[in-house]
Amino acid sequence: MRLIEHWIGGAHVSGSGDRVGDVYDPALGAPQAQVRLANSADVDVAVGAARAAFATWGNSSVTSRARVMFRFRELIERYEDDLATVISAEHGKTLDDARGEVVRGREVVEFACGIPQLSKGEFSDQVSTGVDSHSFRQPLGVVAGITPFNFPIMVPLWMHPIAIACGNTFVLKPSERDPGASDLVAQLYAEAKLPDGVYNVVNGDKQAVDAILDSPDIAAVSFVGSTPIARYVHRRATEAGKRVQALGGAKNHAVVMPDADLDFAADHLVAAGYGSAGQRCMAISAVVAVGAAADLLVEKVRQRTLTLQVGPGSDQASDMGPVVTAAARDRVLDYISQGEKDGAVLVVDGRELVVDGHEEGFFVGPTLIDHVATDMSVYTDEIFGPVLSVLRVDSLDAAIDLVNANPYGNGTAVFTSSGEVARTFQRRVSVGMIGINVPIPVPMAFFSFGGWKDSIFADHHIHGPEGVRFYTQAKVVTSRWPHISEESLAQINFPTAR
Ligand code: NAD
Repeated sequence: MRLIEHWIGGAHVSGSGDRVGDVYDPALGAPQAQVRLANSADVDVAVGAARAAFATWGNSSVTSRARVMFRFRELIERYEDDLATVISAEHGKTLDDARGEVVRGREVVEFACGIPQLSKGEFSDQVSTGVDSHSFRQPLGVVAGITPFNFPIMVPLWMHPIAIACGNTFVLKPSERDPGASDLVAQLYAEAKLPDGVYNVVNGDKQAVDAILDSPDIAAVSFVGSTPIARYVHRRATEAGKRVQALGGAKNHAVVMPDADLDFAADHLVAAGYGSAGQRCMAISAVVAVGAAADLLVEKVRQRTLTLQVGPGSDQASDMGPVVTAAARDRVLDYISQGEKDGAVLVVDGRELVVDGHEEGFFVGPTLIDHVATDMSVYTDEIFGPVLSVLRVDSLDAAIDLVNANPYGNGTAVFTSSGEVARTFQRRVSVGMIGINVPIPVPMAFFSFGGWKDSIFADHHIHGPEGVRFYTQAKVVTSRWPHISEESLAQINFPTAR
């Protein structure tokens, strides 16, 4: 069986341990490859390679770094199908969905191509007589990324192109469930002539993560994953003195007002709830139907849900693939059953779905549950599967209160034809990313991405301008070039401008 190795110092490396993990084909429910699981010595080797590379890369010109990114961007476009095929095979999402992920990730590389402009400092002439000040930012050194299974190329691309363009060197610990894309990316970076050791991949699980969090030679950690692990990563890495951004899980609400175009809303709710089998951190999982919208909306969503084709991601006819593991499937099925026991109404029940020829695959059919209450686990917990819950409220105020009472604050959307409603909603919700008639408001690469509350443990959002700030630290220089003959003007008191 194929074995996916680490990528350290510009080459595949087996490492010193003998642990491996299975990489499944979720549509067949069977292992298709194995992946090395690093121990702390393997992480140290990767960090050592990154540290050695930083001595040169951290001093390279900003134009040469930008040129690597331009070449890398071309290669991602050229190999889009290969990347999408690997992602679909290991994650289970459809090929078209995987292509979308590659494009959204490539846009971050396009942003990073602008690093000469993005990293310009500031200059002030004559801050005191004969004195000027300028500021500029420098890379941190070795930085690390720890990423989830659900976007195996896009989420790492939120991190390393910007970190590397800023002059840092990078150690990535991708999800052990679908590590193939990060290995292919290593080869694209090599083809783009990125020097060896600037981008490294250590595959692994908690052992590798803990070694990264404790490593004294890693200056900063970017993490994306579930909330409990994000909280843990943030605590442990900050205790070790690192700069940390840890993005966590989500429960994203879509509020549908009675004045909304309900056909439009239903189309978008189905796409946002069931796309990628609901395994997107920005997936809509809770529909908040306001007033008279509810009955008609539920019926329209039901009709559309029934048309969805579920099958392997490699089949062009599939709208939705399997979930990632057997454990994920069982967890989703349990939540649906619990919701039913708690008194919610199953409008579309995906529990019994069997896909012909893929009887062992990790499939769950799209599921629609109505009359969900805020104390039911189907609402309180992040299910991360193709389950759309409908809650009913009387007013916009009640809808906003409901959204704000939820501990997560990643994304939310409102469907309405009223500008006043939209403005009230966007100003009052405690959520980081908001869509107005846009169900999955993932910001473009030139904005920054990030939630609020339990969806993030960080001072900085990820990619975009905040990414450049996260991966650099500021210096301010105050300079004077006195004439030999000039009086020194030295002050023993705290100096002030003259
Ligand atoms: P996860 O938290 O299980 O894993 C994320 C990473 O942490 C992986 O690399 C994994 O190897 C590592 N990890 C897992 N358990 C660990 C432990 N006990 N100690 C140390 N490291 C550990 O998340 P996942 O299941 O891969 O991904 C799905 C989750 O990610 C969902 O909660 C989803 O909402 C979230 N997510 C959030 C965003 C965002 O931008 N906020 C984006 C994508 C995914």
